[in-house]
Amino acid sequence: MLLMACQPDPPSPIQPIPPAPPETSVSSSAPVSSAPVTPSSSSGSPSSPPVSGKVIVLDPGHNGGNGSHAAEINKQVPAGRGQTKPCNTTGTSTNAGYPEHAFTFDVAKRVSAALTAKGIKVVMTRQDDSGVGPCVDKRAATGNSANADAVISIHADGSNSAGAHGFHVAYSSPPLNAQQGEPSTRLARALRDGIRDAGIPTSTYLGQAGLAPRADLAGLNLSTRPAALIECGNMRNADEAAAMASPEGRQRYASAIAAAIESYLA
Ligand code: ZN
Repeated sequence: MLLMACQPDPPSPIQPIPPAPPETSVSSSAPVSSAPVTPSSSSGSPSSPPVSGKVIVLDPGHNGGNGSHAAEINKQVPAGRGQTKPCNTTGTSTNAGYPEHAFTFDVAKRVSAALTAKGIKVVMTRQDDSGVGPCVDKRAATGNSANADAVISIHADGSNSAGAHGFHVAYSSPPLNAQQGEPSTRLARALRDGIRDAGIPTSTYLGQAGLAPRADLAGLNLSTRPAALIECGNMRNADEAAAMASPEGRQRYASAIAAAIESYLA
């Protein structure tokens, strides 16, 4: 759920992170890029794809440890527009108990794999699905400090309204900086078009035609890079829950998102 994109704050004493490898530490302040930029080919290959060398930050909503760290994720953090919000939230789940945090992390990994195969550098805002946070403001800072060509947050919704289903893409509005203007709107439209063209229906209950201008989402408010947030669908809808809980369904979301990102970058 996007009302609750969570993130733990700066390293907190209760984080279950061993002082070992930084790349597995959820609270690491330095997100680890998943792959180096790869040139298209060694020798005479035509030319590098136009997207090669671009930087994408993927932000899988929530985290697996949030539910057991209430005090930590409920701490208020800056949310933009003079507001504060809880650091992070637990997210939603299907009626059968498949959690949003697992869905978003798996889809993000699949998107990352598709993008890195094209020579795109991917930075994830969290490195596993068992940690806490990071807080929403820290997630935004990851995109900003990476100087990302685009930042994409991935979520799924949990509406109990009858028949509610479909995806939508949120973007910051009114924009707080130039990157939240045309670039973010164009990113949101590219994502909307790509996901819709993959045959996934637009939301019947939120936004319009799969797009939702929002002023209350911290990650978008605090971004100084082109940014958008995808609510892939409604985990309380039986059909969408079945798709989200299956590897094939998650790959379908991921392929559509990756293709849309490539389209935006090109
Ligand atoms: Zn969410």
